[in-house]
Amino acid sequence: MTAPWTLPDFDDHEGLHLFRDAASGLTAIIAVHSTHLGPAAGGTRFWHYPNGDDAIVDALRLSRGMSFKNAMAGLPMGGGKAVILADTMRTKTPEMLAAFGRAIDSLGGRYVTAEDVGMSDADMVAIAKTTRHVSGLPVAAGSAGGDPGPTTAFGVYLGVLAAIKRALGKDSAQGVHVAIQGVGSVGGGLARRLAADGAKLTLADADAARAAKLADELGASHVPAADILTVEADVLSPCALGAILTEQSIAALRVPVVAGGANNQLATPNDADRVHARGILYAPDYVINAGGIINVALEYLGEGDRAEVEARVRRIPERLNDVWAESAANDVPAAIVADRMAKRLIGRG
Ligand code: NAD
Repeated sequence: MTAPWTLPDFDDHEGLHLFRDAASGLTAIIAVHSTHLGPAAGGTRFWHYPNGDDAIVDALRLSRGMSFKNAMAGLPMGGGKAVILADTMRTKTPEMLAAFGRAIDSLGGRYVTAEDVGMSDADMVAIAKTTRHVSGLPVAAGSAGGDPGPTTAFGVYLGVLAAIKRALGKDSAQGVHVAIQGVGSVGGGLARRLAADGAKLTLADADAARAAKLADELGASHVPAADILTVEADVLSPCALGAILTEQSIAALRVPVVAGGANNQLATPNDADRVHARGILYAPDYVINAGGIINVALEYLGEGDRAEVEARVRRIPERLNDVWAESAANDVPAAIVADRMAKRLIGRG
């Protein structure tokens, strides 16, 4: 096994905690990247990894990403991430979740969890039986918290409007052509808002019928999933998978703006330079898609209701504008500017 602190993804993490509970079959890792701004917040991923090293790398990489995301969202939260190493059958039991809750609790509030891949709000309820350091629980209407998708979509919509303003000089999405990759929770919500503004939409989804249905409903066009990245449009909004901006795909883009909700859109750090070199205005993903984390963070902190969540999400365009202004002033890719700003905020700049 590789010593974690020699891995490229180790970034002076404050803690890397391993938990085993033989009785329930739990094996889990909690990575605490930074608590500079507050408790390290980030979801739990329930995943079958080929080996333990891969799980550690995921926890290190994702927890650092959460530090940056929470800082740029203006939240009083640090960054952390947990992974539960699932077996090949992805067996998950109440006993395992109870043991995981005890593991979280043993950190005394330094780490706060929520849903990530493979975890549901029902799982959060199960974890909440043994720790209070959990968010993403079902909530009453009008409260902060609950399904983060619609709030993320709202923040992405505001970010797209800010990008349209900066790159095209337009005050609304009326008549602006937006190509959306993935019309699930985030992309679908974005499409509905943009359609209501009179935008021209081209939609695509790996589930072609899903894209066709929404396109019919909204009076939009749809194309096969393989074609969306080369549609000529004003904005490309990636709202499906990560790593879609590669050397090849960036060279083929026919848009002046990329602004969407998908996590980790840049396949490699060099792709930040490639997007910048093409003169494309890029909205760093973790800045524009912070609506969901703002929602669950306020739920955990008990700070306010839906109106407060919305007020904080409305500040996303301001942060994007700060990033774009610094990017233009210093001729540095927006993604790198965002990382630098985040590092300054967590005291590592
Ligand atoms: P979702 O599962 O609801 O929707 C994703 C959609 O993308 C699905 O309809 C799927 O069929 C489609 N898709 C998958 N591969 C595709 C491809 N190659 N081409 C076109 N479409 C494809 O997920 P979501 O919650 O809308 O999340 C979308 C993205 O936003 C993810 O990258 C996610 O990590 C990120 N994100 C989501 C939230 C949130 O609050 N839900 C918050 C931050 C970031």
